[in-house]
Amino acid sequence: MAPPPPSERELDGVRQRADRFIAELDEEHYLHYAGHKATLELTPIYERYAELGRLETAQAVGAAADGDVRLRELWRFTCETYIGELTRDLAEREARIEAELEAPIGGRTVPFRMLRPTIANEPDRGVRQELEAMRTDLGEEHLNPIHLETALRMRQGVTDLGAQHALELYRDRFGMGLDRLGEECRALLDETEGLWEQGADRLFRARVGVPLDEAERWDIPRVLRAPVWDPQFPADRMLPALDSTLRDLGIDIHAQRNVHLDLEQRPLKSPRAFCAPIEVPERVILVIQPIGGPDDWRALFHEAGHTEHFAHTSPDLSVEERRLGDNAVTEGWAMLLQHLVDEPAWISRRLDFARPREFAEEGAIVLLFFVRRYCAKLLYELELHAAEDPTSMRGRYVELLGDALKIEPSPTDYLADVDPGFYASAYLRSWAFEAQLRSFLREEFGNTWFARREAGSLLQELWSLGQRPTAEELLRDVTGATLELEAVAERIRESVR
Ligand SMILES: [Zn+2]
Repeated sequence: MAPPPPSERELDGVRQRADRFIAELDEEHYLHYAGHKATLELTPIYERYAELGRLETAQAVGAAADGDVRLRELWRFTCETYIGELTRDLAEREARIEAELEAPIGGRTVPFRMLRPTIANEPDRGVRQELEAMRTDLGEEHLNPIHLETALRMRQGVTDLGAQHALELYRDRFGMGLDRLGEECRALLDETEGLWEQGADRLFRARVGVPLDEAERWDIPRVLRAPVWDPQFPADRMLPALDSTLRDLGIDIHAQRNVHLDLEQRPLKSPRAFCAPIEVPERVILVIQPIGGPDDWRALFHEAGHTEHFAHTSPDLSVEERRLGDNAVTEGWAMLLQHLVDEPAWISRRLDFARPREFAEEGAIVLLFFVRRYCAKLLYELELHAAEDPTSMRGRYVELLGDALKIEPSPTDYLADVDPGFYASAYLRSWAFEAQLRSFLREEFGNTWFARREAGSLLQELWSLGQRPTAEELLRDVTGATLELEAVAERIRESVR
């Protein structure tokens, strides 16, 4: 017999504990990845909050969540903590093995985690192929057994939670509109196929000297790396550009007492910018170690979008509305700032280099790469999570991703390339949110909306809502429009000749 649903007081207890648990996890991640601390110690935190990861907690919150959207977010959180608890030892083992693995390449060794960046920085195609073969061989032998065991335990966890499979849990119980989004993905893939074939063909010829039909997966990181644009995006101008962009919107990042910039160089610091929203909104950290190049600029502006969103979130909101909720919202704000870097009007104002339109066109094809890849990933995940046996899905992974990009992925990645909790849907919807909100801002405030104080005031007001509304609700309230993936295709077409 099911236990009675918890009282409001008991639910408040879960809420407060969840708030502290997430804060401690974020702080530990910050300390490790900013290079303050060599090890990432998650177990003691999970042990201190053991009750949050118990099946009974998820079941109790689930019993109360019926029909209550805010509580449904807390329910999802306790379900994911339960599944996370079931697979935590595997995640730790995976991280340990990943950190230890090395690939011997022509007299030198490359750490496993550095293989992708090394491929991106390698001009010789043959060496890139060799590095990629190392990556897949090591992954197949050492990591795939762990990925498979993780997938099987997650399935067990989902069954314990009373659902047949993860698709049922997320679509039917948590109310994610995955079927409709899947249809939009299929439509976008169909409709942008010609655009991708032409645009990618030009880009691959220009960056790696091969047409799209001869391109291989080891060419992709090199094309995305695009060192040819490095001189236009120098490391020493990243922070000043962010600073003045925010100033134009009425924000003085140095005067924000709840925003902390971690700028120091440390040997163990992650080279990629990230945001640690340890207390929302009281303590949000933007971690940066500028290396320059367009990809690094995009990463900094993306993380600055998360930072300003969390820093402006109203402290009066509930834990669900500040820390949980629809991640397409925070990803949408991150994308809005990230895509400024590809915006010719912004480039002319902040960087003033020749050929900003050519750069914007390349940025649009790169965006199309990611959007098509995530459409295929979502379609794959919809099948994978409902499949009887995950190991039968290798071929399907290659087929769906290969069809979308016209470049075959490695079958080795059929489990590693899966985002937990259908996070792919948050990215896909955030791209639509960005495209539609940007159109609105341009209509309302002109093509240089990002330099208008009034636009800044509107953004700050919307950021204060945290993740109380979904991306769909926020867009409808501000613009009256329905969130549609099609808007991303339109935005891309606008920048491509
Ligand atoms: Zn993000």
